[in-house]
Amino acid sequence: MKERCTRCGHQFVREPGYFQGAMYLSYALALITFSILATVTIALLPSHSPGWALAVSVPAFLVLVPVLFRYSRILWMHLFYYAF
Ligand SMILES: [Zn+2]
Repeated sequence: MKERCTRCGHQFVREPGYFQGAMYLSYALALITFSILATVTIALLPSHSPGWALAVSVPAFLVLVPVLFRYSRILWMHLFYYAF
């Protein structure tokens, strides 16, 4: 991750451990995303077993992990900006 925004120069990491709180947002985003993926998979393929839906949902979720990681940090920065 870059230290500063290339356009406006905003410093992303304000202090060591700044993004520790983003971990909780990442967990919440992961739960929501995985729940949606599993629900959609089960809804689209009702004749298949739940294990099969899990086998489809887990790889799809793993593909989305880098996106969730970045968005959790973006959300954290916004929360931090508006709260403090
Ligand atoms: Zn910027």
